[in-house]
Amino acid sequence: MKVVIAGASTSGLFAAYLLAKAGVEVDVYERAAAIDPAVRTLIVTDKINEVLGFVPHEIILNEVKHIDLFSKSRASRMELDRPDLIIAREKLILMLARMAEEAGVQIRLKRRFQSFVSGQNGVAIHYKDLITGEDKSETADYLIGADGVYSAVAKAASYNGHLQTALLQARIKLPKDVSRETYQVWFDRERTKYFYWLIPESDDIAAVGLISDEPREGSESLKSFLAERDWKPLEYQASMVPMHKYEYSAKVKEISSRVFLVGDSTAQVKVTTVGGVVTGFRGVRSVVEAILEGRKVNAESRGLKRELDLHWLVRKVLDGFSDDDYDRLIDFIDGQLKQVLSTVTRDDLAMMYLKLVASQPRLVMMSAKGLLRGIG
Ligand SMILES: Cc1cc2nc3c(=O)[nH]c(=O)nc-3n(C[C@H](O)[C@H](O)[C@H](O)COP(=O)(O)OP(=O)(O)OC[C@H]3O[C@@H](n4cnc5c(N)ncnc54)[C@H](O)[C@@H]3O)c2cc1C
Repeated sequence: MKVVIAGASTSGLFAAYLLAKAGVEVDVYERAAAIDPAVRTLIVTDKINEVLGFVPHEIILNEVKHIDLFSKSRASRMELDRPDLIIAREKLILMLARMAEEAGVQIRLKRRFQSFVSGQNGVAIHYKDLITGEDKSETADYLIGADGVYSAVAKAASYNGHLQTALLQARIKLPKDVSRETYQVWFDRERTKYFYWLIPESDDIAAVGLISDEPREGSESLKSFLAERDWKPLEYQASMVPMHKYEYSAKVKEISSRVFLVGDSTAQVKVTTVGGVVTGFRGVRSVVEAILEGRKVNAESRGLKRELDLHWLVRKVLDGFSDDDYDRLIDFIDGQLKQVLSTVTRDDLAMMYLKLVASQPRLVMMSAKGLLRGIG
């Protein structure tokens, strides 16, 4: 069996590694001239260890044991039973590329996927050879699109693109009054419907960021946030991120019996925090299992879809929150919710939500009000 994967980043390389380890012939097409990813500081839950199947020690920069939450007039500290991990995306990609190549994967650089024709017995894949400039074709049993937010594979399948949002981060010197074990989050409804964050990378460096619907507005908002605290940006990291949408239901599954999408190409992103690494890996696992077992969609894919939909619903609730609501939420968090939030990760939101509601039924009314305002 032969599989072609478009995109040599986190999702594509993880899929390539799992398939090659199971004895499949895998070619990864990457349009770039080298696997030389830009530096990006990421925060993930420890669910990454479970999804990868091992602890990726070489990519972990730091472990975060507390989250400090700030709203307009409240503050609260949450202890995490299982620390969040701060990882270097470039190291993750290089690690997965090495593992994939050791398992027998061919990474073919300067190949830009263009289109496909899917038949009963295989897929014809059309690509541009960026070395010679020629248009070429190859056949495979399956094609996986792992080519990110502007996915050409998704477009070739008449998939009309995703909602997108801008993610901006600045690396700064870690402020003296912040411990490297503490992740900080600010809710400030006048300036963002999302939140600002500070992620400590080491004793010296932290990443401060913001999600924004519009890149220019986000950039100004981040600059003023940094200036108010006298935090000097050392460098900026920015890119568009796709937003999972409830209606994408069918698209989380395969789009033809021989063509699949994973990661950002199919918006496998938690829209509450815009985290896409762990959910992308979960999507990869379900596609790899489907290919190896010759099945269509599996339970893991449905579980992931439920989880992403729930994040979408929570996002809608939060979109309707005022500063007063965030103050109240932090009061709740400071009370009985603390225990629940510290023991369940953001990658198990479905389970977390049930526990939250059981421990604090007033949350249902507050969520309903937020939801009405969020979709209003
Ligand atoms: C600043 C920033 C901070 C973030 N922070 C976090 C975080 O803290 N936690 C978290 O979980 N997530 C975070 N994310 C999101 C996360 O980085 C993405 O969800 C994840 O990296 C997506 O990986 P991917 O492999 O699906 O796609 P990508 O990483 O976008 O990779 C797509 C690959 O496909 C290649 N490609 C594109 N088109 C073609 C083509 N036609 N032919 C061949 N190759 C092609 C590209 O060159 C690229 O190598 C952040 C994103 C940004 C921008």
